[in-house]
Amino acid sequence: MHKERVIMAVIRVLEVGDVPKKYLDVLVQELNKKSRIYRFTLGDKLPLPANAFDKYRQQYKAEELLKLARDARVLFITNADIYTENRNFIFGLTKGNGPSVVSFARLDPTFYGNSVDFATTSERIVKETIHELGHMMGLPNCENAKCVMALAQHFSDIDGKARDFCKSCEVRLTAAGVRV
Ligand SMILES: [Zn+2]
Ligand SMILES: [Zn+2]
Repeated sequence: MHKERVIMAVIRVLEVGDVPKKYLDVLVQELNKKSRIYRFTLGDKLPLPANAFDKYRQQYKAEELLKLARDARVLFITNADIYTENRNFIFGLTKGNGPSVVSFARLDPTFYGNSVDFATTSERIVKETIHELGHMMGLPNCENAKCVMALAQHFSDIDGKARDFCKSCEVRLTAAGVRV
C-alpha cells in the first residue's frame, strides 16, 4: 500500500519582550489551521536585547532582533516598535528563508490612541505573520493589494488585504515545490 510521506516542518513562535498571551495563542491556532506542512509551536519568551534599541529613534532594529534566532525556523513576535534602514518603521522582516520577526506595536489600535480591539488586532497579526512566512517560503512582496503578500505601509493596507495568497503567488509557490 502506498503511504504518503508528510513532511512537517516545525516553526517555533517566540515572544520577544511582552506580547499579550491571548494574541499569541490565537496566532498559533490560526496558523496551524491554515498550514498543511508546517506545525507551529509556542516557545520561549525572550527579553528585548538592549543592543537592538536605538535611543534616538526610540525603536528597535529588526535585524538585531533576528540575530536572537539559533536557526531559520523561528518566528519572533515582539511588542517592540521596529525599524530597518531607510524606513520609519516596519511591521515585520524576514532574513532569507528565515528567521522572521513581526511587530505587534503598530498593529494594536491603542498605539494610535484608539480602544482595544481584539478581533481587528488578532486578524492583523495573523495576516502580517502569514506575509512574513510567505517571505520565508521565497515569495517577494506582491503588487496585488488584496494579496497577503502586498507590502503594508499602514495598518489600513493590512485591513484591506486578505489572509490568502493571490493566484500568482500560489503559482509561484507551487512552481518552487512549496505547499503551504
Ligand atoms: Zn514583505
Ligand atoms: Zn500575491
